[in-house]
Amino acid sequence: LLDPASRNSAEQFLRHHFQGPLVGPDDTAYDEVRAVWNGMHDRRPRLIARCTSAADVSAALRYATAAGLAVTVRGGGHNVAGTAVADDAVMIDLSLLNAVEVDPGAHLVRAQGGCLLRDVDAATLAHGLVCPSGVVAHTGLGGLTLGGGYGWLARKWGLTCDHLLAAEVVLADGTIVEATEDQHAELLWGLRGGGGNLGIVTRFTLRLRPVGPVHYHTGVHPLADVPEALARYREFAVAQGPDLHATAALKQAGAHSWIPERLRGRPALFLTAVWFGDPADGPRHTAPLFSAAAPDATDSRVLSYAQLQALGDHGEPHGHRYFTKSCYLTDLTEGAVAQLADTAQEMPSALSSVDFEYLRGAIGDVPDAESAFPRRDAPYICTVSAQWTDRADDEANAAWSRQGTARLAEWQYGGAYVNYLQDERPGRVAEVYGAARYERLAALKRRYDPDNVLAGNQNIPPAAH
Ligand code: FAD
Repeated sequence: LLDPASRNSAEQFLRHHFQGPLVGPDDTAYDEVRAVWNGMHDRRPRLIARCTSAADVSAALRYATAAGLAVTVRGGGHNVAGTAVADDAVMIDLSLLNAVEVDPGAHLVRAQGGCLLRDVDAATLAHGLVCPSGVVAHTGLGGLTLGGGYGWLARKWGLTCDHLLAAEVVLADGTIVEATEDQHAELLWGLRGGGGNLGIVTRFTLRLRPVGPVHYHTGVHPLADVPEALARYREFAVAQGPDLHATAALKQAGAHSWIPERLRGRPALFLTAVWFGDPADGPRHTAPLFSAAAPDATDSRVLSYAQLQALGDHGEPHGHRYFTKSCYLTDLTEGAVAQLADTAQEMPSALSSVDFEYLRGAIGDVPDAESAFPRRDAPYICTVSAQWTDRADDEANAAWSRQGTARLAEWQYGGAYVNYLQDERPGRVAEVYGAARYERLAALKRRYDPDNVLAGNQNIPPAAH
């Protein structure tokens, strides 16, 4: 049916084998469906294949290959580098594949490849269970899981990819397989952190964990207090067990009722501690973060897990312009803290932020050999996230973000989180994984996608024979 030499036969094939909507440049839905979260990426695919099944994904892939068109895969569309969309390519859009099936007895969820985090949480929380994932509920499960998946519960339970037990995968040649510990086990290893290189996941089977209400405690400091407050944060964070996760953010103080008037509209330091044990014990565990270096104001509450996950939903809306640079840090030394404070002071946009947190805990407990995810032992992650709205400010904001991590060079741990890569130099992906992992992933790529059909990602080209 599919003659690779004929565009006509490829189009006929698609018409006969693809069940979902096909959206092209002349369709009214085109602009809405091609848009991704980062408004910087205004790209025009040749065709958007809105898949409704694994068979649709397979048909769209076979069509694109036969027609000689590049392919991109869209999960939640949140990748800051905009890898879900490319000019003249076929976008394999998974966003209609968002069904979730929970098996509470087995502590399992089966989530289709285009789910957002909130789709999964909504279904599992009905049973008091959750798969640890990211901190913004409108992020896509697909890209987040395949790249790793840091979040509030990572120190307690590990990354999202550590919860990936099996996956239904459409391979680059259109074959549909199930990767488990018993079949295609090496593929499963690669899906745990190797990004979208090895296949298109149409169903994730993920392990669930019990979760209840949490104690949430945040405080705001003026910039002048940053050295002292972060010295305290460092001491506090490294001493905590897995039930406590503490984060830090330098960003503009907003007009919230608990924030003093004098701090509003200026860059400030926010320290936050979340306690995942019994909420009644929470204040005892979180208060020490604020006792030695007192913040100007604090806000302390018991939140449901769904409320915690929704806290970040409005800060990074779709369509704004974003530029992110991220790195791991060895330590929050005085020197590093001074650089972070300067970066905050020089922020060109009031919407931007510098976020950092102490990691370790269960992230580092997973044996290195169990997943493609690199650098589990990194102590801190730091992300300099520029957000603005006017195209004319693109250069100033990107430069601020680049400089924000460049000035931390002395304290960098090496590598970076693959899901935060944007605008990188050649060879960066190899550096992110390290030589041994990268070679193992490149060998897997040769086995599962020898022609690099799935190249619209943080690409790992197939190893040479
Ligand atoms: P998309 O842009 O749709 O996809 C990105 C790439 O992933 C695609 O190009 C494709 O290669 C691949 N892909 C996606 N789905 C599939 C699939 N089903 N099968 C095969 N390949 C697929 N990361 C964290 O770890 N923790 C966080 O807390 C966190 N918070 C974030 C908050 C915001 C607001 C944003 C924008 C991002 C955040 N991230 C976080 C980063 C996030 O993990 C990446 O942006 C990730 O790529 C998003 O996945 P997506 O499916 O939405 O992206």
